[in-house]
Amino acid sequence: MSETIKKVVEKNLCSGCGTCHGVCPAHAIHMEFSTLGRLLPIIDEAVCLKCGLCLNVCPGIGLSETMSNTFDPQLMGHVESACFAKSTDRNIFDNAQSGGAVTSTLAFLFDQGRIDAALVVGQKQQKAQYRVVTSKQELLDCQSSQYTPVDLNSALPELAKYAHVAVVGLPCHIEGIVKLKELFPERYANLEYLLGLICGGVLAQSCVEVVKRIAQKKVGTIADDFRIYWRLRKYSTYKDAKIAFMDHQGSVKTMDNNIRLSCKGHLTPPRCRLCLDKMNQFCDIAYGDSWGITGGDTKGGGSVIIARTPKGQSLVEELFAKGSLTGRPCLIEEIAKGQHLAEKRQASANAFACHKKEIDTFLEREKGDPEEAITTIAKKVRTRAAWKQFTGKIRKLLKIG
Ligand SMILES: Cc1cc2nc3c(=O)[nH]c(=O)nc-3n(C[C@H](O)[C@H](O)[C@H](O)COP(=O)(O)OP(=O)(O)OC[C@H]3O[C@@H](n4cnc5c(N)ncnc54)[C@H](O)[C@@H]3O)c2cc1C
Ligand code: SF4
Ligand code: SF4
Ligand code: SF4
Repeated sequence: MSETIKKVVEKNLCSGCGTCHGVCPAHAIHMEFSTLGRLLPIIDEAVCLKCGLCLNVCPGIGLSETMSNTFDPQLMGHVESACFAKSTDRNIFDNAQSGGAVTSTLAFLFDQGRIDAALVVGQKQQKAQYRVVTSKQELLDCQSSQYTPVDLNSALPELAKYAHVAVVGLPCHIEGIVKLKELFPERYANLEYLLGLICGGVLAQSCVEVVKRIAQKKVGTIADDFRIYWRLRKYSTYKDAKIAFMDHQGSVKTMDNNIRLSCKGHLTPPRCRLCLDKMNQFCDIAYGDSWGITGGDTKGGGSVIIARTPKGQSLVEELFAKGSLTGRPCLIEEIAKGQHLAEKRQASANAFACHKKEIDTFLEREKGDPEEAITTIAKKVRTRAAWKQFTGKIRKLLKIG
């Protein structure tokens, strides 16, 4: 009898990636939201075979031995090349979170007939939801970042019928897939392109309710059928991209990005606070915002791209050569600074100690009444965001920072 992922969940090490759910041969696992909205696996003990496979592939408890041997403790990971890039397709660029580099890569792979499916993420009823798409046309609806949890790797059984697949995933999703590919190289050989996002953490699902309540006070009634854009570039500069609520008729209400950032203090799931793989070290190509890149993170915005494997490197070269992307090389040091890797390294060095108070508060709130927790958090977030806005204005006036 082998151990299951039950302990991973009990010890708050689960990121909700869905790998265990996607791989369980007995279909004994389903995913559920916790009180505050972490996405967690639940095992039906009566069905479980105690085969231990779920624990073997779980990225929540750590990396495989091979992965540990290549993990870069400086957190940047192996770099073949790095660049600043924008999609040359106007629709893709305008609809993108950063520079549209991810969607342009997928569109190129579809155009070239190199993939017959892509695993991406969209939104349904304000929840992030994985989607298996089979054409370039479906990609536009799955652009922009979903900052709430998504069990991407639950899609694994659905992917089995495709011969050539590209996966877009956060570091924990990609780690789960790499672990699977190590264990079952033939079964998962169809997962050919691993496109990774840089990740500063998700927010528990209840952040939607928190920002909605604040919005109702600040900008008026929000329709029930709204779609939330966590950072919509359209109505401000790239750096200050706003939270936007769009209803079915396409009418939009926006709110300051400070609100989302202030939510991080209260609704970052414990596992994200302990995460060491912000830069998505195990993918073929990593994509992120162009924070810190000279001329890259101001008005228009753009993507940073880090090619990590020879396969990723040759794909990036093709994307530029065939005109899907435009851009220029950039310095790794600029990326590291823009992503605050030095601070992240310091925090990670003693992650448990650094985040103990926030983790304890999160877990304490999970035990209580969710309505009470959301009301308290909404009040704290609102006050902090207003204070940040005020100090921001003063700093600007005094020309500090
Ligand atoms: C939770 C989260 C945290 C992030 N943190 C950082 C950060 O700290 N620093 C940084 O530089 N960049 C971060 N990013 C990445 C950044 O927000 C952009 O996703 C990235 O730059 C790609 O932009 P793009 O314009 O090329 O992609 P687009 O063309 O807009 O396409 C976005 C792609 O991301 C996929 N996607 C969206 N949400 C998710 C999700 N939750 N899980 C898996 N795939 C998803 C979509 O399916 C789509 O393929 C984060 C993204 C997420 C989702
Ligand atoms: S595989 Fe993913 S979802 Fe399952 S327990 Fe591990 S971290 Fe959680
Ligand atoms: S031990 Fe095996 S059967 Fe049980 S939940 Fe894990 S993978 Fe499924
Ligand atoms: S911070 Fe780490 S654990 Fe959290 S979602 Fe991102 S990759 Fe997963």
